[in-house]
Amino acid sequence: MTSLQPGVVFGEDYLTLIKACKDGKYALPAVNVTNTNTANAVMEAAAKNKSDVILQVSNGGAQFFAGKGLEDAFTAKVLGAVSFAQHVHMMAAHYGICVVLHTDHADKNLIPWIEALLAQGKEFYDITGKPLFTSHMVDLSAEDIDYNLNECARLLEQMAAIEMSIEIELGVTGGEEDGVGSDDIDNDKLYTQPEDCLLAWQKLNPLGHFSLAASFGNVHGVYKPGNVKLRPEILKNSQSLLSEKTGAPENSYDLVFHGGSGSEKDKIAESLNYGVFKMNIDTDTQFAFARGVGEYVFANQAAFAFQIDPDTGAPYKKQYDPRVWLRKGEESMIDRLDEAFADLKSAGKSLARQG
Ligand SMILES: [Zn+2]
Repeated sequence: MTSLQPGVVFGEDYLTLIKACKDGKYALPAVNVTNTNTANAVMEAAAKNKSDVILQVSNGGAQFFAGKGLEDAFTAKVLGAVSFAQHVHMMAAHYGICVVLHTDHADKNLIPWIEALLAQGKEFYDITGKPLFTSHMVDLSAEDIDYNLNECARLLEQMAAIEMSIEIELGVTGGEEDGVGSDDIDNDKLYTQPEDCLLAWQKLNPLGHFSLAASFGNVHGVYKPGNVKLRPEILKNSQSLLSEKTGAPENSYDLVFHGGSGSEKDKIAESLNYGVFKMNIDTDTQFAFARGVGEYVFANQAAFAFQIDPDTGAPYKKQYDPRVWLRKGEESMIDRLDEAFADLKSAGKSLARQG
């Protein structure tokens, strides 16, 4: 079996990891993190489940990493992302798993953020021989397709020069309103068109490696059951058209499933047959972290109001120490991730070399 050095993977090793996922019909959870607590919880959960994993920050998550008190929000978004990446570069190998470092949605307004991260990434690459991030997501799905693909091609050329990949988006991942009652298979906004995927392949594949967030009725967030009509067969149609038109092997697109939180388990399983190797998860792990902290706070309310019990004089230091209640959040997040590794069938499949 192929094995990789534990730690952050990029370039050829990233392609090896993706191929193992697709050949083995499993996917890696891509978990949004906002601080070292959540980043460490994801790596701990991956190690526990003997799975490789993807850690990512949104621009807001990156800003939070740097600190909400910094006045210059743009600089905070850049430096917070760098700080996050450096933390994971330092720690990932010690968890004994392979980690992919990613950024989440960057729309047209956030292209300067990506460009600043590429400048930082180039500097890091010149010193260490590794990029800071394995891949950046550039989501220009709200723009017309020519602009989307031209801009992604321009950025991919810079990324490929430092052994990075790009994730692009075609079609729109729905929000609450978009998801409700939308079961028209030809709706070209919620359901990515196979012809658009083919254009992306023709434009980007010669330049470097890209992954593709394709919409098949997925929505961000968690809503009441029944609002979302997932149609994984859309992914299959895109894969088939690519093979038919170019002779590329079956399932050549490396697909990303956005809006994984709260999705029907059988649709998640079905999507694994059609080249999905990455499933983004944020809402469910946010809730898990909050619930772990919340349950502890409810059960120990006095310790969050008084340093010393007003009646008994007992000190509460052991209860309000942040390491105690933040750990409850981490543990609860790890429990939720156990479920994700099982759903995505990645548990026990880490490519990281043992020992
Ligand atoms: Zn998304």
